[in-house]
Amino acid sequence: MKIHSATRSRCRRLDALAHPCEFQPGGGIAMTNRRRFLSSISGVVLATVAGVDGKAEAQTTAKLDEKDPQAVALGYKHDTSKVDKAKFAKHDVSQKCSNCQLYQGKPGDAWGPCPIFAGKQVSANGWCNSYVKKA
Ligand code: SF4
Repeated sequence: MKIHSATRSRCRRLDALAHPCEFQPGGGIAMTNRRRFLSSISGVVLATVAGVDGKAEAQTTAKLDEKDPQAVALGYKHDTSKVDKAKFAKHDVSQKCSNCQLYQGKPGDAWGPCPIFAGKQVSANGWCNSYVKKA
């Protein structure tokens, strides 16, 4: 029996997932243990989803470090009253993350996400040079 090379390649990929398969006369692949195959695939999918969720959770709870190079470049401070007024003349102490258009924390939260510092939380009382007054 002649086996098409694409079929052989597909079977090798399935073998990599520890799935036993057989070549069929028409060039297809028969799954001799379909339950085992589906079980192994669902395990991989669940592990991937759990890993992504875990990573997202870890990123959103991490607080921004004022010494982070991007934070330094944008003059970010956890306390808006500590912003260097000489460097950031447009800054006013009434401006803070909690009243910035970009702040994604809920009202009353001490910290919240900000897309300028993706994956990190900024202080509700903080400020950076990307501040945009909330409309
Ligand atoms: S963009 Fe707005 S919410 Fe984000 S750090 Fe700067 S001031 Fe805070």
